[in-house]
Amino acid sequence: MGQSGRGQAWALALHGGAGPARSRSYEREEAHMRGVLDAAAAELEAGASALDVVGAAVAALEASGMHIAGRGAAPNADGVWELDAAIMDGATRKAGAVAALVGFESPIAVARCVLERTPHVLLAGAGAAAFARAQGCAPVPDPAAYYTPAASRPVAPGELAHGTVGAVAKDRAGRLAAATSTGGLLHKMPGRVGDAPLIGAGTWADGRCAVSCTGQGELFIRANVAADVSARIVYARQSLHAACAGALADMAALGGDGGLIAVDADGEIAAPFVSDGMKRGLANAGGLRDVRTFR
Ligand code: ASP
Repeated sequence: MGQSGRGQAWALALHGGAGPARSRSYEREEAHMRGVLDAAAAELEAGASALDVVGAAVAALEASGMHIAGRGAAPNADGVWELDAAIMDGATRKAGAVAALVGFESPIAVARCVLERTPHVLLAGAGAAAFARAQGCAPVPDPAAYYTPAASRPVAPGELAHGTVGAVAKDRAGRLAAATSTGGLLHKMPGRVGDAPLIGAGTWADGRCAVSCTGQGELFIRANVAADVSARIVYARQSLHAACAGALADMAALGGDGGLIAVDADGEIAAPFVSDGMKRGLANAGGLRDVRTFR
């Protein structure tokens, strides 16, 4: 699905994962996403930076407990909540990410701290947790009480066993940014890291586009989907829509499913998926406000 937004002063897209089941309604999730979209749109309208807006939007989606990320994440096969997140600023190409992070409410907030306060891009496991603690990030002292019971629900027939949240934006100054946060695959192996925190695979932003992916992470890593969108734009001179479709088709050809959201420097928005559906919300300065789960 594409949205013509040529020359938009700002543009924004959110996603809540490409794992929805047709057998249930997502009205609650869509209503919440509409609120997050409106708040983020107001910030962009007022001149906020794309980096701040995508970070705040993903934090709100994490906190909702409605998606497989943050509060809504499911534990791994050992019953431990190991979460992944990344944020990238297209204007500076600075990025921060955490992988297999245990014990903190907002992995995207920790990723932002990695971006701002370390010379590194990605911190994993115990080192990431020690860093988050030292930064004063909000801890989860009692995981069983904090994480929503909905997250540990059995997978419904036909439902894809994963989920993620993400945001991409172009701000009034023309800067692009992307953020992604996930609990990863349901029942994943301890230590498994998906595409979301890997810059270039699940999350990417530069001067051409900002991309946040959702789907079977292993395939997104093998196809390097997020950075491939930018490569197609610059090397193959493809439009944002063609680049997104091509990158996703390359991943799907390996046997994966999922989708992505992307914005480009013109304010164009693309939100294609090769799965049953994808929870997503789109907005731009021209008045676009569109939240939906299926086509
Ligand atoms: N891509 C995520 C992962 O593999 C899961 C998802 O987006 O649904 O960790």
